[in-house]
Order: sequence, then structure tokens, then C-alpha cells
Amino acid sequence: MQKKYKHLFFDLDRTLWDFDKSAMETFEDIYKTHHLATKGIPGVEEFYQKYHIHNLRLWDLYREGMLEKEILRWKRFYLTLLDFHIDDRALAEKLGKDYVEISPRKVNLFPHVMETLKYLAPKYHLHLITNGFQEVQELKIKISGMNRYFEKLITSEEAGVKKPDPQIFYYALKKTGAVANESLMIGDDYEVDIEGARVAGMDQVFFDPQGISPQNHCTYKIKDLSALCNIL
Ligand SMILES: [Mg+2]
Repeated sequence: MQKKYKHLFFDLDRTLWDFDKSAMETFEDIYKTHHLATKGIPGVEEFYQKYHIHNLRLWDLYREGMLEKEILRWKRFYLTLLDFHIDDRALAEKLGKDYVEISPRKVNLFPHVMETLKYLAPKYHLHLITNGFQEVQELKIKISGMNRYFEKLITSEEAGVKKPDPQIFYYALKKTGAVANESLMIGDDYEVDIEGARVAGMDQVFFDPQGISPQNHCTYKIKDLSALCNIL
């Protein structure tokens, strides 16, 4: 028998929001605005590739509570610039500031996001659980128009802990008045979203758009968000 869910919790980045596409568009802007070509950075792709490596590593430290948000914001650019032999903290700070201001305005959603949310919203309570920065995530859901479908936004900044810590899921349940066995978590990061939700007693939908993850230990696995309309 189909389980009756009442609350659906979505991850935002790389689940609904095409993070990498928005980031690339932002980098193209920043590269031009700050004349990075004349400063010795040969191309925007090279710049983004180097940044991506530093960002992943620093973001892991941030998630583990070993790095402050304000440091993360500029340091990922500082280290990227250093790869191109540019030692310029002031420029790194400007790039960091521009990045968080511009990227939420580059609206890129995965296919079928809006129609899927429109289908689900009258039937379930929809919420977001994200490790992203509060003000950035608020802006993304507002500018994209997704805010009309979501009741509550739960950020790690507000909860004081980050996914996959089960405490953020407990916090989300409390904030929304949901119970774990009537709740479903939908996310793209196996360790962060899926394992975290499972530990907290929630069912999980693993969104694997490229179909490349070997992980199958989840309640459902989907490649396209519209598949949620068949499950729910
Ligand atoms: Mg994600």
C-alpha cells in the first residue's frame, strides 16, 4: 500500500536549482567586469575549474564547522587567484561579494521543476532544507517564483547544524509540525540529503539526474523531477 506522506522536504542546490549553470553564468559576468583576462587568467572555464576545486574543499570545511562563512566567501576566490599567480586579497573579497550577489539572480532550474511543484503543492506541505546561505537561498526562491509553492525554508544557519546532521531534520520536523514517518526528503547528495534523512527516520527520494551514482539504498531513486508525480 502506498505510504501516505504529508510533508515533502526538498534540497535546493542541484535538486531544484541548477547550481552549476548559474555559477558558470555568474563567472562569465565576473570575468568580464573585473577584467580578469588582462590580469593573467586565460579563460573563464579555467578560472571556474580551479575555483570549483577550492570551493568543494572549503565548503566541506564549512559544513564541518571548521570554517566561517565570511572567510569561505573570499578565500575560495583568493586561492583560485593564487593558482594564476595573483596574490590579491582585496580583489578576492570583491569577487566573493559579487558572486553571492549575482548568482541568485541567474535563474536556472532543472527540467520540470515548476510543473512538478505546481502538481504537488495542493496535495502536500512543501518545504526546503538547505545548507546554503540564508539570504542567498531566500533570494533564489523569490526571484525564481518557487516561493509561492513552499511553506517553510529551513537553513543550516537558522538550525545551527548542517545536513547530514540528523538535528537539522528534527529541527525541520518541529518547525513544520511534521512527523518523520509522514515525511519525505528529496535531494541530490547521497551522503548529505539521503543518509541524513534516513538517520532521522524519514523516507528519501534520491535525485540522480545523470544516473551515475551507484547508490541505491533509498526509498526511491529518480532521474527527472517529474517522476515525483508518479510516486506521489
Ligand atoms: Mg544539493
